[in-house]
Amino acid sequence: MVHNMTIASGIQAFFGGTFDPIHYGHLRAVEALAVELGLDHITLLPNYLPLHRPKSAANDQQRRKMVELAIIGNPLFKIDDRELQRASPSYTIDTLEAVRTEGGMIMPLAFILGQDSLLTLNKWQRWQSLLDYCHLLVLARPGYPDPLNTPDLQQWLECHRVTTADLLSQQANGYIYLANTPELEISATEIRQRYRQGLSCDHFLPHSVHRYIKLQGLYL
Ligand code: ATP
Repeated sequence: MVHNMTIASGIQAFFGGTFDPIHYGHLRAVEALAVELGLDHITLLPNYLPLHRPKSAANDQQRRKMVELAIIGNPLFKIDDRELQRASPSYTIDTLEAVRTEGGMIMPLAFILGQDSLLTLNKWQRWQSLLDYCHLLVLARPGYPDPLNTPDLQQWLECHRVTTADLLSQQANGYIYLANTPELEISATEIRQRYRQGLSCDHFLPHSVHRYIKLQGLYL
């Protein structure tokens, strides 16, 4: 498939998140990334139980359902719920290792994350080995420092950063790409707060997800 005259890259891209709830900050950013890099598909990977976060307001099944509702009819997206099915916390590196076991080491594989997540990447399990399995594609997010304020991360970023998208499809793993995606001032935390306060969230997430939140009485 061709997006806006961009040649399909052949990169298999995963986008992990809590998605509590999924919102346009996720969806519009990765849609723009798909155009920027010629990604045919993006696989959304809901986390079972995020580390460093309070217990989710929505349960696993509800978060998965919201992801499903958000992507219905959009051929760009797929869901991989392996982390939910494991029913225990998963490290991203273990999931990537499993994807490589299934698909081999040759295909270009990428993991997508927001700029805020890049800042705390050095807290992730075996973070320096992530690039042995995949490229990292970083979505722009407003309000985060560039360069990073952690010297070891900044140095690692400088060693592996590429600015040309072509390289990402020529090699299976090993690069970090800071995307030129739009900066969207939307977060799940703010959405949960707004629901609690009875404020409108129309501009933040798809109507189908909003309807489900209301029906399930979430975030009150
Ligand atoms: P919370 O506010 O609860 O922390 P969140 O809005 O950051 O949630 P997550 O599900 O935790 O959403 O995010 C999944 C991934 O999407 C993370 O890598 C995060 O950095 C990225 N992300 C979330 N919102 C945005 C946004 N507005 N722009 C770019 N990336 C984003």
